[in-house]
Amino acid sequence: MSFQNPVFIPGPTNIPESVRKACDMPTIDHRSPAFARVFKPAVAGVKKVLGMGTGEVIILPSTGTGGWEAAISNTLSPGDTVLAARFGMFSHRWIDMCQRHGLNVEIIETPWGEGAPLSRIAEALRADTGRRIKAVLATHNETATGVRSDIGGIRKAMGDHPALLFVDGVSSIGSMPFDMEGWGVDIAVAGSQKGFMLPAGLAILGISPKRSRQWRGQGCPAPFLISGTC
Ligand SMILES: *Cc1c(COP(=O)(O)O)cnc(C)c1O
Repeated sequence: MSFQNPVFIPGPTNIPESVRKACDMPTIDHRSPAFARVFKPAVAGVKKVLGMGTGEVIILPSTGTGGWEAAISNTLSPGDTVLAARFGMFSHRWIDMCQRHGLNVEIIETPWGEGAPLSRIAEALRADTGRRIKAVLATHNETATGVRSDIGGIRKAMGDHPALLFVDGVSSIGSMPFDMEGWGVDIAVAGSQKGFMLPAGLAILGISPKRSRQWRGQGCPAPFLISGTC
């Protein structure tokens, strides 16, 4: 018999009983080697879920939204230009956060119910001969409409433009295939309470090797410094 709530939303998802039981352990010192013994295999598991080869995993005590903020504030500066398509509430919220951080967002308005428009992204980048666009932001699964975008297709549409590719995979990662390395994603953002089926409270980021060298280290909590992850 199951005591799980019949919650049919993208998250917080039900936590499998085996995971809840695994959480039931005595306190350990988060500054001791015992923590690293738990943490390192967890990071290796995250790399598998994200389809990462090399690169860094950063796990922050935060919502998924905080993970976006970490991605933006650690890699971009006010006045930088980013390109984003708006086709639902989550892509809209990401754009809104970028604007609050003083970024100049070039917005491709797209009807809700459609995914990221590859040809219009290609067109915008081709038109950017001055190479002002620093990053392309893509919401993998737009939770508001349930529409998935073709992330590998976006990278191909970017051609030889040097912009970075940032992906919001909060509701997709762990729930559908994700191939960070194969698709050429620079930063992927996930949250613990959706596809990972864990308690809410962790933002999980995958950072490509190119980006991790430039990560400014803001918001890197002590356990990561100790385990040598940041
Ligand atoms: C849920 C969700 C978020 C926000 O996650 P929070 O942890 O609630 O901040 C961001 N993007 C997408 C696509 C989501 O589904």
